Amino acid sequence: MTGERFFLLLTKKSPMTNTLYIYNTLSANKEEFKPLNKDLVGMYVCGPTVYSDVHLGNCRTFISFDTIYRYLMYLGYKVRYVRNITDAGHLENDADEGEDKISKKARLEQLEPMEIVQKYTLGFHKVLRAFNNLPPSIEPTATGHIIEQIEITKKILDKGFAYESNGSVYFDVEKYNQTENYGELSGRKIEDLISGTRALDGQSEKKSPLDFALWKKASPYHIMRWPSPWSVGFPGWHLECTAMSTKYLGKQFDIHGGGMDLKFPHHECEIAQGCASTGKKPVKYWMHTNMLTLNGKKMSKSTGNTLLPEELFSGNNKLMDKPYHPMVVRFFMMQAHYRSVLDFSSEALNASEKGFNKLMTAIKDLPQLTKSTQSSIDVQSLVDSFYQSMNDDFNTPILIAKLFEAVKYINHIKDGKATISKNDFDLLSDKITAFTFDVLGLNFIDKTDESILEPLMKIILTLRKQAKKNKDYTTADYIRDKVSEAGITIKDTREGSTWSL
Ligand code: AMP
Ligand code: ZN
Repeated sequence: MTGERFFLLLTKKSPMTNTLYIYNTLSANKEEFKPLNKDLVGMYVCGPTVYSDVHLGNCRTFISFDTIYRYLMYLGYKVRYVRNITDAGHLENDADEGEDKISKKARLEQLEPMEIVQKYTLGFHKVLRAFNNLPPSIEPTATGHIIEQIEITKKILDKGFAYESNGSVYFDVEKYNQTENYGELSGRKIEDLISGTRALDGQSEKKSPLDFALWKKASPYHIMRWPSPWSVGFPGWHLECTAMSTKYLGKQFDIHGGGMDLKFPHHECEIAQGCASTGKKPVKYWMHTNMLTLNGKKMSKSTGNTLLPEELFSGNNKLMDKPYHPMVVRFFMMQAHYRSVLDFSSEALNASEKGFNKLMTAIKDLPQLTKSTQSSIDVQSLVDSFYQSMNDDFNTPILIAKLFEAVKYINHIKDGKATISKNDFDLLSDKITAFTFDVLGLNFIDKTDESILEPLMKIILTLRKQAKKNKDYTTADYIRDKVSEAGITIKDTREGSTWSL
């Protein structure tokens, strides 16, 4: 993995010819991408809360940002990609109430909170590896950055945008809104927000229901706790991302991403914390992925409307007709634009499987193509269209449509209905493989996988058995020898024939 990334960084395969446009949630417009520092890009993506298995919805967001990361590197940018692990601090409820999700799970599973964190972090990495995601450049944890979070809280208090109440510290949203615009990212108006929240009772520590915790005093039952100038407690759930993004990418950086559901309150609060502590808007381009749905409803842990990657890969689920390879699932996700809703179904996955196999077959067939003196199509324009689609806000479905134009062309050359020159062949081979593997992050399905060979070998062994029964030993030996040339050994035993790689 690391080697692959290193390779990508070294092989600046194309000049940044066309301009890249990114849809910025902040302006609700596609904007020309101009990094703050030429050729260097800082990108932060909110990572998972590691208290349960990641579902396919979560994966969609991380796969989308992996493709964005890959394309930026392919264009020649040196990208520092930071994706955090939320291992502390989230309460069950946006209103800073309820139990810490990780501690709750630890109690249920009778484990230490850090065992829960370890277990689900490892599971998360395993799933993303199966999807061929590159690891981020830095993967910091919330618990590893408590000191930084305390420092930011102090700064916000010093600037007068927060107040202490009974050992907890809250961000003063109305005070902030006097000089800044709380709601600028999500398009919400503070008056509407106030009227939409329930009034505080006399017991509340907060001045306003909109205020959010920067630091919470721990109740006697709260397990994950740290000392601070205000109390023994834990950080509020928006603060860790401000602390880690600022630490590794600076007060201002290029891209901040996450799922659309994080726009409010999480990202709105991150902007407020950044502006209040540094006086600067932290992020130039805000990017949000749309939701993966199942039966038309958002895939979500809390509602139980989920499908886990493992369940999909193994076929061990009640929703899909059969198992699907992670590469087919990745291809399926790439067939939708990251800002569109995507619904999961067997029909859609079956169609993607066919498309994926068609693309892979064409790439495998490339070395066998005959080169001519001239090409029958404009190959340069076709290749340019690969870039144009990705430069238009990472439009992977259009890119795939263009790759299929190339597949059709390759198949026509194979059938003698089209021609390609040597130069164009080199160009097309380079770009179709680069966009398929380096940019979309796809891979050939490993054909040495025994589970894939099993049904095929069953057919072959039956045919050979039939041949022997008919005393057709020439065919029986032919099958054994040819299969052996392909690296598979057939053994005849008293119980029947077996095979091994
Ligand atoms: P969480 O662990 O709940 O914070 O989620 C991790 C990431 O997955 C966040 O960026 C969420 O916005 C994203 N996410 C959660 N559910 C979905 C979904 N159904 N489709 C796409 N992204 C999702
Ligand atoms: Zn975050």
